[in-house]
Amino acid sequence: MKALVIAEHNNRDLKPSTLNTISAALKLNGDVHVLVAGQDVGSVIKSVSKIDSISRVLFCDDEIYKNFLAENFSDLILGIAKNYTHIMMPSSTFGKNIMPRVAASLDVPQISDIISVEDHETFKRPIYAGNAIATVKCMAPIKIITVRGTAFSLAEVSNGNVETEELSAGTDSGKTIFAKQELSKSDRPELTSAKIIISGGRGMQNGENFKMLEKVADKLGAAIGASRAAVDAGFVPNDWQVGQTGKIVAPDLYIAVGISGAIQHLAGIKDSKIIVAINKDEEAPIFQIADYGLVADLFQVLPELSEKL
Ligand code: FAD
Repeated sequence: MKALVIAEHNNRDLKPSTLNTISAALKLNGDVHVLVAGQDVGSVIKSVSKIDSISRVLFCDDEIYKNFLAENFSDLILGIAKNYTHIMMPSSTFGKNIMPRVAASLDVPQISDIISVEDHETFKRPIYAGNAIATVKCMAPIKIITVRGTAFSLAEVSNGNVETEELSAGTDSGKTIFAKQELSKSDRPELTSAKIIISGGRGMQNGENFKMLEKVADKLGAAIGASRAAVDAGFVPNDWQVGQTGKIVAPDLYIAVGISGAIQHLAGIKDSKIIVAINKDEEAPIFQIADYGLVADLFQVLPELSEKL
């Protein structure tokens, strides 16, 4: 068993999703190599080589990988794919962009969004917005897998000095060009790795009222999320959306404010350790999965909460 994990990073810092994916790969009980590709990725290589549970860091530092274009990236992976039994990436937009191309080129199925490794060919993954868990067995010679980060712990970054190997860069496919990227900047923790999240729904009524959530979030050091209804109504940006078609989160504490608890929202928060719901409708479905529920008007509760914290 030899697994290759493709590192997700921003050319400077390693994303925690890589560490979750490494944990999943380690469950195969074989060798784990990690590929770091990008431009000026020295600091990322350094971080990865500290993880002594892996046995090799492959890297390729070239401008054609800087923006993670699927065509160039997948060519690089395909060049070494035959050396591995498993190739794994986080099931973030990064993995979702690149892995289907790798799977199709190898003519093997992709196993998406796994939440457990049963053995080297058997995996569990959620289906129907997380309402059922499918156990899938894949007999393909190379298993192409994306990993749901929230289902696996972070691999430990120790003080290792793992062997590195440089790969030669391919040529630019020329099929796509990188036009631009608009990144939202925030001092708050990232939603997918935050320990505490407070989210607002349609009940917030408008974007201005989200300032009330910000006050509470500031005191708790929390990230802020939203339901799709709040995003669609233009209250907040769409990268705040939590749920089936938004971000899948698993914080220690998730506070849902003015969110009804539609199945598609719950699909994104189910793995949270403690769920607190604030809703004025005692029949709201969110109360069925909440550990603590407060039937109250959020416009009274939020100011009180931020004052008492
Ligand atoms: P509502 O359902 O309208 O609920 C608002 C809640 O606020 C109500 O329960 C109400 O009682 C409460 N409220 C109102 N005023 C107050 C007040 N003053 N104080 C306290 N409580 C108050 N949704 C997601 O969130 N994420 C997704 O990723 C997602 N993906 C989807 C994918 C598909 C294919 C589809 C079909 C839908 C998806 N949805 C998703 C939408 C989902 O079905 C719901 O429409 C959405 O989650 C509802 O958002 P909400 O709870 O904010 O709004």
